Amino acid sequence: MQWPALALVCLILACDKEPQRASTGFSGESALRHATTLMSFGPRIPGTEGWRKSGDWIVERMRESADTVFSQEWTHTLSKGGSIPQRNIIARFRPDATERVLYVTHWDTRPVSEKGSTAAERALPLPGANDNAAGVGLLIALGELLDSLPPAVGVDFLFVDGEDYGSFDNMTDVLIGSSFFARNIPWPGYRPLFGVVWDMIGDRDLQIYQEIYSVRQAPEVVQRVWSAAADLGLANVFIPEQKMPITDDHLPLLRAGLRVIDVIDIDFPDHHKPSDTIDKISAESLQKVGDVAAALILPRT
Ligand SMILES: [Zn+2]
Repeated sequence: MQWPALALVCLILACDKEPQRASTGFSGESALRHATTLMSFGPRIPGTEGWRKSGDWIVERMRESADTVFSQEWTHTLSKGGSIPQRNIIARFRPDATERVLYVTHWDTRPVSEKGSTAAERALPLPGANDNAAGVGLLIALGELLDSLPPAVGVDFLFVDGEDYGSFDNMTDVLIGSSFFARNIPWPGYRPLFGVVWDMIGDRDLQIYQEIYSVRQAPEVVQRVWSAAADLGLANVFIPEQKMPITDDHLPLLRAGLRVIDVIDIDFPDHHKPSDTIDKISAESLQKVGDVAAALILPRT
């Protein structure tokens, strides 16, 4: 009597494949599909046609799942003179809930691929599959899940613009959208329980170390995220070790008093190269990060 029952269990769990992990209902395939569609609009350089279409498309997708969707639009004056249009997109789930979680991802792409190997390559705009169509696809797919399975807390998605526009060497014209949001938080007294920036999380060879500014300034959030990953059997992806400090969208938010950490796989061979194309990201990696993002906000079963 035991064998048929065991065989059935094995059939359901596919025992001959890799060790099974708990499923949250998040779909990495869906996240990859959304990232692929976003890439079809071309580079998302602020002010270009591809950027405008991409922003409109993100709003449309989020209107299908979220309770409230709106944009912050403004003009950013560049350090060298001139200006670019900017647009943060905000989507809220359970907007009346007082306990909230903030998920942030940048949707713009860099105007140049400065790590390319030739001068011609370096002049090309960054395609931006892993940096950061992956993050956008992740949140859109997570929105689909929250539409069918309401979160245990209120959830805010913030798609920031202008993360990657200018120079990180002298910190000009970068982190534009997150800095604008930090100065113009649309809700009085906004204090989410915690927040996460999801950046470059689609790499096929995914290894996410704890980012050092996050560990220093919001250690309890790092602990929360890495232990959720360990509970899902993902300690080989969310490696519980510190690696390096990374300047990213969490810094302006931390300075504004929000408990936000950076989840990023910075060790990406195609970082800021014209080879950051859709084939570099995988549904499997998006599935793993999406399961963690979902587990952090779904009701515990
Ligand atoms: Zn980048």
